[in-house]
Amino acid sequence: MDISELGDKILNGDRRALARAITLVESKRADHRGQATALIEYLSRAGRQALRIGLSGTPGVGKSTFIESFGMVLVKQGLRVAVLAVDPSSARSGGSILGDKTRMERLSRERNAFIRPSPSQTHLGGVARRTREAVALCEAAGFDVVLIETVGVGQSETVVAEMSDLFLLLIAPAGGDELQGVKRGIMEMADLILVNKADGDLKPAATRTCADYAGALRLLRKRPQDPQGYPKAMMVSALVEDGLEAAWDEILTLANWRKENGHWQSNRATQARYWFDQEVRQALLARLNSSGARAEMERFGEDVAHGRLSPAAAAEQMLNRLSDV
Ligand code: GDP
Repeated sequence: MDISELGDKILNGDRRALARAITLVESKRADHRGQATALIEYLSRAGRQALRIGLSGTPGVGKSTFIESFGMVLVKQGLRVAVLAVDPSSARSGGSILGDKTRMERLSRERNAFIRPSPSQTHLGGVARRTREAVALCEAAGFDVVLIETVGVGQSETVVAEMSDLFLLLIAPAGGDELQGVKRGIMEMADLILVNKADGDLKPAATRTCADYAGALRLLRKRPQDPQGYPKAMMVSALVEDGLEAAWDEILTLANWRKENGHWQSNRATQARYWFDQEVRQALLARLNSSGARAEMERFGEDVAHGRLSPAAAAEQMLNRLSDV
């Protein structure tokens, strides 16, 4: 495959080329991996950046409804919007979030929107790399906003937060004990908490929930990357499309403030370091799990068990071998 040809098509906004490239970064084949790395490297020279927005919430909170209406708000403003998903549970269920495109019927018909469902993956590390590279591809293809959706099941939020400029948490209106339902760590990650379904009969409950979260956010440690009054809780209705422009305004205010104060850039730099670190760790682990390395481990293990080598000496020899297996 001609990497620069594919890369140039992506830079020209060719959607089919983009889809092909995402398939390439999703591939587990070693030769594809090499091509994917070369492609990402080629595209990064263009230096394009989108606003990367992570979005999380438990199933049923209204994520896909929100992405559809919010995406339409952005598209109507002339922005190009890509939607990606991180779904660590899809390996188990066999399905995937965003898999059912009819959930975003209007947005998927828009020329300036690109929706990519999450394929099945076995482990979060693989999901993370695939999504991160898909984000980079969408940026290169000229999208202004990349929305990265994840289900609120724990670890995947961290992965998404590590590749986002801003993180949104969607919450549903609830009784009185709803705060306990959201892990503190996830709340701390959020830049904006959106209490969805603030419409009809649910409006009073949404108002209470929003006040509860606003109170809880005030108790959190003030973050240096935030201006006064952030993180913030606000009400939206994805269904009747209320509060979505206001949410976008908040996002822009926060993003611009961070850009002007250098936090945007330093966040991306920290993320790049983090992903470099992850790549090295995962590559080392993959090597350690290769059949050659496993055989060596077994052999050294025997030596250690029989007292022929100390654990430390065996480990040192094993690590030296690792580059050869
Ligand atoms: P997801 O699982 O988080 O993607 O949630 P969905 O977007 O599939 O929505 C789950 C249910 O909540 C659907 O029946 C939606 O119609 C409903 N829903 C989503 N957003 C709203 C909203 O703003 N107001 C109301 N009343 N219902 C909503």
